[in-house]
Amino acid sequence: NLGYMTSERAFRIVLAGDAAVGKSSFLLRLCKNEFTPSSSATLGVDFQIKTLVVDGEPVLLQLWDTAGQERFRSIAKSYFRRADGVLLLYDVTCERSFLNVREWVDMIEQDVSSEDVPIMLVGNKCDLRQSGANFVPTSYGEKLAMTYNTLFCETSAKDGSNILEAVLHLARQVKQYA
Ligand code: GDP
Repeated sequence: NLGYMTSERAFRIVLAGDAAVGKSSFLLRLCKNEFTPSSSATLGVDFQIKTLVVDGEPVLLQLWDTAGQERFRSIAKSYFRRADGVLLLYDVTCERSFLNVREWVDMIEQDVSSEDVPIMLVGNKCDLRQSGANFVPTSYGEKLAMTYNTLFCETSAKDGSNILEAVLHLARQVKQYA
């Protein structure tokens, strides 16, 4: 007994994006509804389970947290091969992480076609918008998502905004492709 209904459909979702954009925090918020300001850098790859009801049907998501550090990219790469969907995060206060989205998309598409594997582009840390910090404009994210034909939203793992919505939206798309 694995503790969940065997009739649930199961999908593999991989989190991608530079180090410190908030991948671990995103998962912590989604799965435990918690936030820790000083979460440590991810080492290697780990996964969490989240069950959702998508269009009236229970769906089990296995969410894989990859590390963004350069030295782990080869590890991350092998996870895209078997992904059903990708959450590709950048930090809206870190232009570099936004510019690196292209590299991540290229890497994902080396292994899978984005037509087969839906991608949700996520601008995280949107709670910092009020802080006066430099901010990647929402319209830039929208434009990039259009270029790559991906979904798009802005989230905050800190205050929880849009986290569940982002995952639901991606899960719906993943389910349609499966
Ligand atoms: P990862 O390396 O991509 O897994 O990033 P982490 O989850 O470790 O987050 C890096 C840092 O950013 C940590 O200090 C987090 O507390 C912080 N952080 C993550 N998400 C948010 C967010 O939505 N808002 C704010 N203000 N900080 C965040």
